[in-house]
Amino acid sequence: MAIFDLQKKVAFITGGNGGIGLGMAKGLAAAGALVVIAGRNKAKAQSALSELRSLGTGAEFADIDVLKEESCHHAIRQAVERFGRLDILVNNAGTTVRKPPEILTAQDWHTVMDTNLTSAFLCSQAAYPHMVRVGGGKIINIGSMMSVLAASYALPYGASKGGIVQLARSLAVAWAKDNIQVNTILPGWVDTELTRKAREQVPGLNERVLARTPAQRWGSPDDFAGVAVFLAASASNFVTGAVIAVDGGYSVLA
Ligand code: NDP
Repeated sequence: MAIFDLQKKVAFITGGNGGIGLGMAKGLAAAGALVVIAGRNKAKAQSALSELRSLGTGAEFADIDVLKEESCHHAIRQAVERFGRLDILVNNAGTTVRKPPEILTAQDWHTVMDTNLTSAFLCSQAAYPHMVRVGGGKIINIGSMMSVLAASYALPYGASKGGIVQLARSLAVAWAKDNIQVNTILPGWVDTELTRKAREQVPGLNERVLARTPAQRWGSPDDFAGVAVFLAASASNFVTGAVIAVDGGYSVLA
């Protein structure tokens, strides 16, 4: 279907070398996009690239440390130099530090805020002129249930994920004139490296997630392929500033 066709489009996905980022990258690649998966871990990226290339479209790795402003600008500039354009940016890289607020350090705070929120601002700003040059673009931010709910062990995570929703809304308003749509996905609990650590650190988490999720399962990274294609394709050209939960019903259970 033409409205979901991403052929000739170039997508840049931070943290696309694993987890939810790779799930979205696979969707975008299956719809025809050339995908650039950006991260630090090259070994993880190699197996991600093989998976993506088996889908028949181009896929490349970009070295990026989203904690560094220059690295964000450099990686995006290089991708554009290499592939000639940039149409889709997915701000997915994320981390957390699980501690109660009273023992969090300033460094913990900055690490989480800078990885999850500041990086989305920096990458969006770096992508903007390239999107304007090709007549528009799509930015997809990854929030969390913690964008709207709260946990005692996730203060900076919740602050960063609340912030990323407002970042998307502000950019949606500012850049609508440039035909750039900016939306946020809120994943529920998804089985990835990030949550495997959570299951070790938070007693009873697995049972609570299963009991609290109407779909009665953890999400899988592949659950994010379809929503990524929708938000990256012309099908969503009048959708901007929106917040879409992909959570098996977690956020609507009374
Ligand atoms: P993963 O740990 O699998 O993925 C996180 C990705 O972020 C990694 O690929 C990692 O790449 C990248 N990353 C982290 N720090 C940096 C950095 N400084 N520079 C470059 N890349 C970085 O976890 P998920 O797939 O679960 O997380 C993806 C997103 O989804 C995150 O924003 C997370 O907050 C969000 N999310 C996840 C949920 C879940 O249940 N799993 C629920 C709600 C939201 P590398 O390994 O190369 O450093």
